[in-house]
Amino acid sequence: MTGQRTARRLEVSGIVQGVGFRPFVYRLARELDLCGQVANTAEGVEIVLEGDAADIADFCRRLREQSPPLARIAAVRVSDHAAAQRDGFTIVRSRSAARRTAFISPDVAVCRDCLREMNDPADRRYRYPFINCTNCGPRYTIIGAIPYDRATTSMHGFTMCARCRAEYDDPADRRFHAQPNACPECGPQVALHDRRGRLLPVRDPIARAAELLQQGRILAVKGLGGFHLAVNAVDDAAVAELRRRKHREQKPLALMSADLAHVARYARSDQGEREVLTSPVRPIVLLEKRLPNDISPRVSPQNRRYGVMLPYTPLHHLLLGAGFTALVMTSANPSGEPIVRGNREAFERLAGIADYFLVHDREIYQRCDDSIAAVVDGRPRLLRRSRGHVPAPVFLARPAPPILACGAELKNTVCLTRDRTAFLSQHIGDLQNAAAEAFFRKTIAHLQGILDITPRIVACDRHPDYRSSRYARALRGVERVEVQHHHAHIAACLAENGHLGPVIGLAFDGTGYGDDGTVWGGEVLLADLKTCRRLAHLRPVPLPGGDAAVRQPWRMALSHLVQVWGESLAGLDLPLLEKLSPEQVRVVARMAARGIHSPPTSSLGRLFDAVAALCGLRHEAAFEGQAAMALEAAARDTDDGYPFGWESGGDRVIDTGGIIRGVVRDLRGGVPTAEISGRFHTTLVRLFTELSVRLADRTGVKTVALSGGVFQNRLLLTGLSRTLRRAGITVLRHRQVPANDGGICLGQAAIAAARFGK
Ligand code: ZN
Ligand code: ZN
Ligand code: FE
Repeated sequence: MTGQRTARRLEVSGIVQGVGFRPFVYRLARELDLCGQVANTAEGVEIVLEGDAADIADFCRRLREQSPPLARIAAVRVSDHAAAQRDGFTIVRSRSAARRTAFISPDVAVCRDCLREMNDPADRRYRYPFINCTNCGPRYTIIGAIPYDRATTSMHGFTMCARCRAEYDDPADRRFHAQPNACPECGPQVALHDRRGRLLPVRDPIARAAELLQQGRILAVKGLGGFHLAVNAVDDAAVAELRRRKHREQKPLALMSADLAHVARYARSDQGEREVLTSPVRPIVLLEKRLPNDISPRVSPQNRRYGVMLPYTPLHHLLLGAGFTALVMTSANPSGEPIVRGNREAFERLAGIADYFLVHDREIYQRCDDSIAAVVDGRPRLLRRSRGHVPAPVFLARPAPPILACGAELKNTVCLTRDRTAFLSQHIGDLQNAAAEAFFRKTIAHLQGILDITPRIVACDRHPDYRSSRYARALRGVERVEVQHHHAHIAACLAENGHLGPVIGLAFDGTGYGDDGTVWGGEVLLADLKTCRRLAHLRPVPLPGGDAAVRQPWRMALSHLVQVWGESLAGLDLPLLEKLSPEQVRVVARMAARGIHSPPTSSLGRLFDAVAALCGLRHEAAFEGQAAMALEAAARDTDDGYPFGWESGGDRVIDTGGIIRGVVRDLRGGVPTAEISGRFHTTLVRLFTELSVRLADRTGVKTVALSGGVFQNRLLLTGLSRTLRRAGITVLRHRQVPANDGGICLGQAAIAAARFGK
């Protein structure tokens, strides 16, 4: 022995349990000839090392560099320890009580090692659709309670056979303490059922399911966090039939392909996109179409992109291995209700939609939709943070008291905080029916249970009628913080960037309840985590018919026209007006002009709707944001823009009249839609850059945060970021949570923490 014998204690926090961390530590210590032990504790993992000081230093370096793929080390605290002439290195069995505050891993796509075994005819798990190991497999979706042990998961009913048990017990095995460990002898099995739910006697249900898909049938396929509805994506008739049965006319359907080579047949991807596609999260990634291709045009109509994912369960791999270019794999959630998760539930709720059901007997405890990501400016942005991310925390800059933040109404997620961590729930969805609200309540209860958090503070939106807010207001024995919607958007962006503010916040979305009781959505704020001041906003225009105007963008177009030309629009010669009956024009123009059933809104999302409708891109919107997406998809690059100004001299109220005049003039002049859309985007970039620079000079605040659903628009996001940075402004954007209302709960929690924290 060369160096001096010393001892150190390492306390590792982060995601270090249930991810193969202790076997990794064990192997590393053995390799470096270090003595000591490793154990799970309340905060993470505790390691005691004894040996050569240089080797211990080496260990500490490699601990971070070589930690298992699923581990996420938040901090390592090193302290001196009494040397005790320890002999060898051991893994100490965990005391179950000690695990309560440790992190639970999200679900992870099947790993390469497992796939290799699954494809090896000599392996005992050859073609076994539930193969998994310490580095991969189901986690969050099979956990019913803590501590995370097999007994508390939906694997509890499957008793490990002797060989599985031996793997599970061996610290050197790659299945050491892999809770869902199983094999064909002892684990879950797949089965095929017909449309009435009757079991079909087939030898290889997956192979038969693939044949049925080849024949154009619609299959319900049980996945990790719920059921998908699957059809062969190149079979136009099958896709049409799926849309008809699902009553889903327009919204893009997600695709799944076996590997990148198959994806390349119909979509383009760059390095960044391929990294996200192949990451263990395996989200749906938005990719540009490669045309022409074999995919049914009904998969993603009027859209430049497909949502594409790679297989993430062994079952997916086996199914896709049958040679499809792609399968449509869309969440099975009839009529906007939560995704179907149980077998019997599937037979009932998907009756009349699915021809066959490919199911299995491992229960899904937590439903969890696929996550959705897009790579913008080389970095992944989340549009939906769900499977594969949940319940991994977002780390906060400052410790927070225990808070429950209830989120918004659409794309709802909830958030719980503990110390310096915020845990966001999976995508719960739109809280507009009883089933969604039940899911919302259940998710809150479940997360409180598995995270062992009893909230002292509840945060919610100020909206009087959001179901999430009503839930919060009904809670007793907690402090309540009601947060303005757009303040929450900006606070979410601050929180995930570890920024405390103040910033100039550009909060652009479709709808949010404003402090003056009107509908906001084109807001320029001066905000930190405690306070928020509205510095500027779009001039409010009437929303003729309220929600009807969200579904019918043409109403917004008329409303904007009325702002410029007054109630009588008959003389305007515009393609849009020709598509409407004179009666429709008269009635809606009158509503807009006189404010009848027309709440005012400063929403930028609605301005997008109006311009899209004027251009004839979307008359009606089958889902929120559809018109805006069509407008973005149509745009071409241009330096030209429209004039903009401020109402009555100041720079508080942005006058959009110049934009509408410009668009109308271009339409009459035969300017192509692509150019008009390009000019519209250019105008917004200029407008908000100019305004931000001016406000930055006035306030001395040189940081701008971008949040709200409108920032799913990549032209606006990239364009604005670029020009702001060129003007010397620091730009904060979302990376870990969506810019849309799916990120709102984090902002609510951050604000509540700032108000109630020490
Ligand atoms: Zn594995
Ligand atoms: Zn077994
Ligand atoms: Fe919003």
